[in-house]
Amino acid sequence: MSEAIVLGAGMVGVSAALSLRDRGWNVTLIDRKPPGQETSFGNAGIIQSESVEPYAMPRGIRDLFDIATFRSNDVYYAFRELPLHVSSLLRYWWYSESGRHREIARHYATLIARAAGTHEPIIRRAGADNLIQRSGYRTLYRDGAKFDEALARAKDIEREFGTRFRALDPAETRKEEPALTNAGLGTIHWLEPWTAADPGALVTAYAELFEREGGQFLIGDAESLKALPSGKGWSVRTRAGTVEAEHVVVALGVWSRGLLERFGARFPMVLKRGYHAHYSSPVALNMTLMDSDRGYVMAPMRAGTRITTGAHLARPGQAPVYRQLERAEASANELLSLGNRVEQEPWSGTRPCMPDMLPVIGPVGGQKGLWANFGHGHQGFTLGPASAELLTAMILGEKPPVDPAPFRPGR
Ligand SMILES: Cc1cc2nc3c(=O)[nH]c(=O)nc-3n(C[C@H](O)[C@H](O)[C@H](O)COP(=O)(O)OP(=O)(O)OC[C@H]3O[C@@H](n4cnc5c(N)ncnc54)[C@H](O)[C@@H]3O)c2cc1C
Repeated sequence: MSEAIVLGAGMVGVSAALSLRDRGWNVTLIDRKPPGQETSFGNAGIIQSESVEPYAMPRGIRDLFDIATFRSNDVYYAFRELPLHVSSLLRYWWYSESGRHREIARHYATLIARAAGTHEPIIRRAGADNLIQRSGYRTLYRDGAKFDEALARAKDIEREFGTRFRALDPAETRKEEPALTNAGLGTIHWLEPWTAADPGALVTAYAELFEREGGQFLIGDAESLKALPSGKGWSVRTRAGTVEAEHVVVALGVWSRGLLERFGARFPMVLKRGYHAHYSSPVALNMTLMDSDRGYVMAPMRAGTRITTGAHLARPGQAPVYRQLERAEASANELLSLGNRVEQEPWSGTRPCMPDMLPVIGPVGGQKGLWANFGHGHQGFTLGPASAELLTAMILGEKPPVDPAPFRPGR
């Protein structure tokens, strides 16, 4: 039986482990924590079928001015931390130019198109249907010009990719969302995305399915990864002893970069930290809502209304800065009665963003049996199963479901 170790039990690693197990492989999934406890735990929970364009760096003068002067709540940074991010940000800037971004989106869309279809059978087999709402999500605009711009873009996306949406005026929005006391100037309702009422619990349900199907989950430290002296495989230390396998998949999200550097592979990343907190809103939203002009998302979740923030360009290990969350909280209170915070301490986690906005999926050069599956940025919760499907085809040497070249390490 072919053997693989998958390092990292977030949405990306759990999906990869399950996909290989489904093909009859003997798979050990290793994490230092139980599955789904890091970035895959705290996100906004949207399976984003509409997100055919990855999140580009704003390049317009007005957007840049708003970021530089902290008028925008989308991005936060401290000047003294900027030198740490400069090289990745410059690459991100270069790839975000509209022509390059369009070309990148063409590849990204091939993977996004498979997102819901690859989640669906896993949700069913995992018995996790109770966590999923299939009614889309809404983006609310407070600025009429921005709404018109977004509407024109949504029409282009619908024409090109068939991604369906509805435009709602404020009265229609308020009718569908009685919790809102202010419905902005216009809303786009993306019809195809799904949302999870507890993203961490969905990853746990996928991991439990993996174990029921004969996969093994162990607590261990990925940093102990070593090539076997024979050159015919890899070993990792776990609490249950050392595990060896011919293949190893690195699915450590934002931590993949540090591990792979030891094996001579460098992957610059833009580290976009986000925060969340839950609130005891007296009247909950029916559906997830993005407050576009104020840079945050409000999601009705099991634990309460979850607010998730935009990007804090933080250094790893840097103390949390709650400024974006506090501003989001104030903005949300302009739209509805948010209620009290449920937890004392907000959560934080970091999106693993590649400067060219594409996840890294495929063989790591010069290292037999070492595979990459990370860098899913703003949509790793969405793309876990679709990436797993591609990776599995590459490992098995089968015809891949999408062109793998744009996603290969070292592209
Ligand atoms: C605020 C916010 C909102 C978001 N909203 C959405 C959304 O709505 N939809 C969407 O699709 N995406 C969203 N994302 C992005 C998404 O959450 C990430 O892309 C995704 O979770 C990445 O998954 P992953 O499995 O690669 O990483 P992770 O979930 O971070 O998993 C990595 C795993 O590696 C483990 N690990 C690390 N180091 C070691 C070690 N040394 N040994 C063993 N294990 C180790 C960790 O414990 C962790 O379990 C959001 C992100 C944020 C921050």
